[in-house]
Amino acid sequence: MSTPPAPRPPGDDPDVLVVGAGVVGLFCAWFLARAGHRVTVVDRGEIGDPAACSSGNTGFVGTQGAAPLAEPGVPAKGLRYLLDPESPFHVRPRPDPALLAWLWHFRRRCTAQHARAAFDVLLTLKQRSLAILREVCATGPLADTLTAQGMLLACRTPEGFAAARASVPAAVARGVPLRVLDPGELAALEPGVAFDVAGALLNAEGAALRIPAFLVAFADALRAAGVDIRTHTEVRDFEVAGDRVRAVRTSGGDLRPAEVVLAAGVWSVACARRLGVDLMLQPAKGYAVTVAAGEHPPRLPILLSEGKVAVMPLGDRLRLAGTLELVGMDTSVSPRRIDGIVRTVAAYLPGLDTDRRVAVWSGLRPCTPDSLPLIGRPGAYRNVVVAAGHGHIGMGLAPAGGRLVAQLVGGERPELDLAPFAVDRWRRRPFARRNR
Ligand SMILES: Cc1cc2nc3c(=O)[nH]c(=O)nc-3n(C[C@H](O)[C@H](O)[C@H](O)COP(=O)(O)OP(=O)(O)OC[C@H]3O[C@@H](n4cnc5c(N)ncnc54)[C@H](O)[C@@H]3O)c2cc1C
Repeated sequence: MSTPPAPRPPGDDPDVLVVGAGVVGLFCAWFLARAGHRVTVVDRGEIGDPAACSSGNTGFVGTQGAAPLAEPGVPAKGLRYLLDPESPFHVRPRPDPALLAWLWHFRRRCTAQHARAAFDVLLTLKQRSLAILREVCATGPLADTLTAQGMLLACRTPEGFAAARASVPAAVARGVPLRVLDPGELAALEPGVAFDVAGALLNAEGAALRIPAFLVAFADALRAAGVDIRTHTEVRDFEVAGDRVRAVRTSGGDLRPAEVVLAAGVWSVACARRLGVDLMLQPAKGYAVTVAAGEHPPRLPILLSEGKVAVMPLGDRLRLAGTLELVGMDTSVSPRRIDGIVRTVAAYLPGLDTDRRVAVWSGLRPCTPDSLPLIGRPGAYRNVVVAAGHGHIGMGLAPAGGRLVAQLVGGERPELDLAPFAVDRWRRRPFARRNR
């Protein structure tokens, strides 16, 4: 990192104010500070606050899992899942115009052509993000927060395994080091772990962040680099003059930054609405249950393919995460869904002891219909950038996304075409309700 900016007197307004200290806001701040801007980050909670989606997830990063949520066949499966209380997907039907518009756009993206295009963009972001994470976590306290020994994709059914095998050549052609394991190789990689699967793949580049340790250590690194991080500071409103935000009203007083970056996860919708901007973004609830690891826990992170559950080894604990529910801002924990996750894990890894539950968590993923984040200037605003909607793979997209935001704010030519991330790319708004 370049020389940190000089310390500022209290009350001094920053060049850039980043709203939200989740993984997205922190990476925006990292690259903005690196470009020489004086940066303040505000968050209404703590770093690693359980309310933030970045705080309790499985932290899978790297080149695995770059597929968008909208894929051919998903609408048909969705109908089946609606009737199953333990299914990995759930939509609570309600007459909400924003949800209906989101579902309408999502449905239209469920084609092979759209899915391929989104995969390409997401994979590029994930590849660049992995390179950034390797650099950021190369030394110091952050070094322990990234594990990069590979990742397994376990398939329980012959059909699931056949589909996974079929995806290997295309992935390899795109630079993803994915390969099919024979049973002997799987046993050698995970000695003592019993798998009840039809087969497995290994992504040698699979990596994962230890959450929330990564966030806490990264925030410390930002502070050391001169970034002013103010926790328990909520953004409540904006003072607007023409096409610019003149002041940001926070619970800790007004700030007058030259630029504002909205990186408040699912709450970006409410913030943007105060600026008269509608974001095409829905909260998608997921759960994680952390259990005491029994005698022979897996060594590597594992994605249970058909069950859509992630298994993350965390020393003497294991974090199991999954489900995606479009149920609005409801963060309540459904014991049935948690049981469903644990049962899925037991089916793939029957020898695993999952009885001693240590913690249960729910988080709201900020999801767009095409799974591509929103990165760009909203509406006519000349000094606001939105950085939100990183969805189900935000830990793996945030680093490269943060660099794009810094390039945009700095007036540089962005390293990637920003058109796929345009905030207003959803021109047709069926069921639209007007903003206040
Ligand atoms: C169960 C589960 C498992 C997941 N697993 C993975 C995974 O393995 N790999 C992966 O890549 N992704 C994963 N994700 C997705 C990932 O967690 C999200 O994409 C990512 O955390 C989004 O980060 P964010 O910074 O946009 O939002 P958040 O982390 O939610 O941060 C937003 C921040 O904004 C703050 N804020 C909100 N409103 C205001 C305001 N008015 N003023 C000030 N501050 C405000 C909030 O307090 C919060 O800290 C998972 C998600 C879930 C739910």
